[in-house]
Amino acid sequence: MVEANIQSGGSPKLPMQGVPQPGREEVLHLPRVHISTHPVMRHKMTALRDKNTQPPEFYRLVKEIGALLAYEATLTLTLEKTNIETPMKPMVGERLAGGIGVTPILRAGLGLAEGFREVIPDVQVWHLGLRRDEHTLEAMEYYNQLPHKVELQVCYAVDPMLATGGSAIDAINVLKKRNIPRLSYMCIIAAPYGLLKLSQTHPDIDIYVAALDESLNDVGYILPGLGDAGDRQFGTF
Ligand code: URA
Repeated sequence: MVEANIQSGGSPKLPMQGVPQPGREEVLHLPRVHISTHPVMRHKMTALRDKNTQPPEFYRLVKEIGALLAYEATLTLTLEKTNIETPMKPMVGERLAGGIGVTPILRAGLGLAEGFREVIPDVQVWHLGLRRDEHTLEAMEYYNQLPHKVELQVCYAVDPMLATGGSAIDAINVLKKRNIPRLSYMCIIAAPYGLLKLSQTHPDIDIYVAALDESLNDVGYILPGLGDAGDRQFGTF
């Protein structure tokens, strides 16, 4: 929905200016929301947020955090039995049942998807390009490489920053048209506002978050956050 962009004094209204936002405590216990408590994650998050962390190190950290999040987010995947032979004797092993998909929301989601692939190398990667209109903060689709035929157990949409929730909601809407039995969303930092919106709009998905922050500023950036996750990964300041 496009809000009126001019305030009574005639100056342009910033997209989140005056918009009420929930506090952290209001979203901490939402159903199907998983916020990491792992000390290694917290350690890496501090390095990631630091403004002195340069793009090569930043990208490496995004990948490492993506791998840790993938490990947490795949805890409940379904397994199937499979017969194998070890060098010693036959045995019944287990393997993941059905394909796993990861959908990085371009371009900031790329590092997270790479981290995911370090945990599950044969994951299918479906790129989805969504851009925020900087005045309305609405998500617009500009690139879609989702296959026509899909046989997945689960697909994870990944994007580092869950800010207003617009792109996340849109990405899940796109994926829902593919009849995938299970969808999840994975992000590094969530603002309470976007987390609540995503959880209320799509109560049937799991949401995995490395850290829950305080709020959004008037232009929709997360506080304290880490700045622009795309620019910091790819050095485009
Ligand atoms: N996107 C970013 O990269 N950073 C934010 O803080 C919000 C959206």
